[in-house]
Amino acid sequence: MSAAGAEYRLDGIYKQRQVGFYMQRIKLPAGVVSAGQARAISAVSIRFGQGTVHLTTRGSMEIHWLKEEDLPQVKRELVKAGLTSRGACGGAVRGITCGSQGALGFPVLETLARRLHRHFSGNPRFERLPKKFKIGLEADVVGGRHLIQDVGLVLAGLEGGEAHYDVWIAGGLGREPQAAFLFAEDVAEERIIPTVEAILKVYAAHAPPPKRLKFLANRFGEAKLRELIEAEASYREEIPAVSGLSEHLVPRSSGHQRLELPIFAGKLTSEQLSAIADAADRLSDGVLMVTADQNIALHVAPDVDPAAELIKLQQLTGIVLTSPAITFRICPGSHECLMGLAATREVAGSLMPHISDAGKKMSWALSGCANSCSQPQLADVGIVASRLTADNAGLKTPRFDIYRRQNSGLGQKIHEGLTELELTYLLQHFV
Ligand code: SF4
Repeated sequence: MSAAGAEYRLDGIYKQRQVGFYMQRIKLPAGVVSAGQARAISAVSIRFGQGTVHLTTRGSMEIHWLKEEDLPQVKRELVKAGLTSRGACGGAVRGITCGSQGALGFPVLETLARRLHRHFSGNPRFERLPKKFKIGLEADVVGGRHLIQDVGLVLAGLEGGEAHYDVWIAGGLGREPQAAFLFAEDVAEERIIPTVEAILKVYAAHAPPPKRLKFLANRFGEAKLRELIEAEASYREEIPAVSGLSEHLVPRSSGHQRLELPIFAGKLTSEQLSAIADAADRLSDGVLMVTADQNIALHVAPDVDPAAELIKLQQLTGIVLTSPAITFRICPGSHECLMGLAATREVAGSLMPHISDAGKKMSWALSGCANSCSQPQLADVGIVASRLTADNAGLKTPRFDIYRRQNSGLGQKIHEGLTELELTYLLQHFV
């Protein structure tokens, strides 16, 4: 990538596979976005892109098909709506994610996600890192999402109104998946920013580009890495407890119900997004959420019938509801991504009808390359296009590896180098 291209990354922009086109990623703290902001994103995609929006497994939105000359105006339009993309790509603290939007404690997590987002986004002290740095918040350890973050914060309790977190560090997927380890237990919320700052300083000082924090855990071992972090001045810094009104947009639960609209491969049209935003104004106080499974969720009042509203939304948007709904996370793959080895939406679309009845009850994920953006090692069944192989005529086709997650850790590879046909056969018999 040119110097200019590398600079774009910190503004949340990647070059697309198609020459001359760019993707703009937008950070949404804990995946929460207002209806007005969703309409602004939709309008930008219609005006500058091709009228589609992609939802990521980290709760961000992406607009593809942007031209280089439009990027400054795209940024202005997003800023007008109070949105930021700074650090959404490249060596920076990425969007703060949360896979626990349905949990009772979610408003507490959303509030901390907003504080972390505000503190680290665009802060030059924490940019130009060796590689990306991911922070995720969770209400519990069930989904395993804390294991794949550079810093995973798991709600450990609420004492006198103050949240405490278990801090897991040095996890990550990609070519060398590695589960995070427990760095500290029951850390008070006011200690989280000093702790993360210390971790970032050690990471920036010791990791060579393009390595992630997990590299240091392997090079130094957990004990030495812990020692280095605890020796950082910022680790011991006392900062005042945050005061003021709470910042969460999603209300504390008072019988609220969750309405989740499944979006195949997280890809929807701008018109569909606008229609969902209008529904959010009517049903959920103008707030919607991008879920970790690339769907959109609304928290609706107790007197609303979520099933009836889901059908209305489906009729309004044309989004197809499958029964039973199969959880299948799918990255953009070679449709748009420069790294993609497989046309992921096409592959998933042709695999889904072959998934056995037992398989339909499982969660699935498909990634177009080993970068694992769809988090295949956290699905019951994860599929990764790991390489291209040429046949006798020189035609290159992808080969797939399969991961199975059967305990609380990361999924393990159980098959490798399968053709799409072999993959289809296996899925028919998956139990
Ligand atoms: S997994 Fe690979 S192909 Fe898919 S979005 Fe990530 S980098 Fe692109």
